[in-house]
Amino acid sequence: MSGETAEDCVETMNNFKSSGIGSILNLSVEVDLNESELALQTPVEIRKRFNANADSVARQISTCILTASALAKSFADIKITALSSPFLLQQVSSNLTAFQTAFGNLPQDQNGKISKEEFGQLANLLPGISCIRGSQNAVVEQLFQEADQDQDGRVDWVDIAYTVSLNRDETRSLFAIASKTNASSATIPGHSNDDLDDYRRLLTRIETLCDQAAATQTRLMIAAEQTYFQPAIDNLVLHFQEHFNRALGPDEPLIYNTYQMYLKDALDRLCRDYTRSQRNGFILAAKLVRGAYMVSERKRAHELGLPDPICDGIHATHASFDAGVDFMLERIARGQDKGAKEVPSRLPLPACSSVVLVVASHNKDSVIRTCRRMQELGLAPKSSTVMFGQLTGMCDQVSYTLARYSYEIYKCVPYGPIHHTVPYLIRRAQENSSVLGGVAVECSLIVQELRARFVARLSHAQIQTAPAVSASSTTLMQQ
Ligand SMILES: Cc1cc2nc3c(=O)[nH]c(=O)nc-3n(C[C@H](O)[C@H](O)[C@H](O)COP(=O)(O)OP(=O)(O)OC[C@H]3O[C@@H](n4cnc5c(N)ncnc54)[C@H](O)[C@@H]3O)c2cc1C
Repeated sequence: MSGETAEDCVETMNNFKSSGIGSILNLSVEVDLNESELALQTPVEIRKRFNANADSVARQISTCILTASALAKSFADIKITALSSPFLLQQVSSNLTAFQTAFGNLPQDQNGKISKEEFGQLANLLPGISCIRGSQNAVVEQLFQEADQDQDGRVDWVDIAYTVSLNRDETRSLFAIASKTNASSATIPGHSNDDLDDYRRLLTRIETLCDQAAATQTRLMIAAEQTYFQPAIDNLVLHFQEHFNRALGPDEPLIYNTYQMYLKDALDRLCRDYTRSQRNGFILAAKLVRGAYMVSERKRAHELGLPDPICDGIHATHASFDAGVDFMLERIARGQDKGAKEVPSRLPLPACSSVVLVVASHNKDSVIRTCRRMQELGLAPKSSTVMFGQLTGMCDQVSYTLARYSYEIYKCVPYGPIHHTVPYLIRRAQENSSVLGGVAVECSLIVQELRARFVARLSHAQIQTAPAVSASSTTLMQQ
């Protein structure tokens, strides 16, 4: 941890900058499901508490963006779970998965498309569809026409997910349960109107942060979290990439999503999002990681009798990671041949590369392999389309070497109040002890950090929330 407040990190960020290394400023606040928390409060109290907490975190992230913006070309890292109720995100994830599964159960052609009639069947599974009075067929017809951009009379999942979405005011109510009767008959479980209001609040919080990031030219990196939240997170990130990844001009997408390549379906998801980016004319900015939740994901899958979402063994994860990197690098290289376009798009594509990659790994072989592939594909180290990311205090020798050879390298600079950052520190310790036997030193540093901060707390240190950035610190960083 670089400190408890964004301001505490300024010195570290400046030190990195003087060595040619950028920063990803990271407020390490995240929220997980904790059923026992719900027992003592009414639903109204719970909703109020989560919204108040999310508003407070949004203000802290705003400070994070402001601090990052003072240092040119920094990132601010965002965890979506801290901006909403984890229960809402879990529910949205499970509904989106149910919707996608229902699509998958329909007969598709060789291009993964369904007919208008099948689209109608799918729409009829939405809980809110029965609330449309009189004109249900007209609504379904209109949605189909919107989704069928290439007008071949058929639509695929990319078309549908974009058109029939919780993110759109026009279609959000299709996911609403209007009454208990609807709830029990709907194949896709819906959301209460209160939940949909909370979802709108979440959209507003993220949009406000994106506006601030765009105004200050600070890129946002959205973290990937547990699989039971991730469909909701992806759905949100794609929506905001669609709006903001044209905003900063050539080669400067604003919003970066994270792909956990240890997941069995990660490469499919990356390919699908690439198709969506080409179709809708936005830059796909993707940070590829192996993934930080292996231990807890496997434990949960085992306890609930669910299939293990993680690749079978470390070699399968390595292969998935390499395949993801190759997929992105090849598209970046192709994008350099101007005009290369693989799928018809509804909006013009950016003139620059339509793909930007961050390789976030401490694995030396992955870093070397990426550099070699870049060379083979004619991608210059400082191309602004390929970057590397590593955590502060981990793999520093690799980071400094990359910087020395002019590669774009960013260190993640985490901070936060101790009671919020413990999950982050525990994951780092787990990661190091279960996987990186060779870096026992770094592991013991984390334990030392935890111990030091608890001791500091016991000796009455004040736990602060992130304060506004002082003028002196921002001036310092601009130098
Ligand atoms: C800048 C940065 C940002 C990051 N952001 C995120 C994020 O938003 N979300 C997130 O989840 N992670 C994130 N990570 C990744 C995570 O924190 C770990 O650093 C990363 O998973 C370790 O992988 P590696 O490539 O560095 O190392 P390696 O040592 O090559 O790989 C270790 C990883 O391989 C996988 N693995 C290990 N054993 C097995 C096994 N038996 N079967 C299958 N897979 C196995 C696990 O993912 C493990 O963490 C981020 C990392 C960095 C550097």
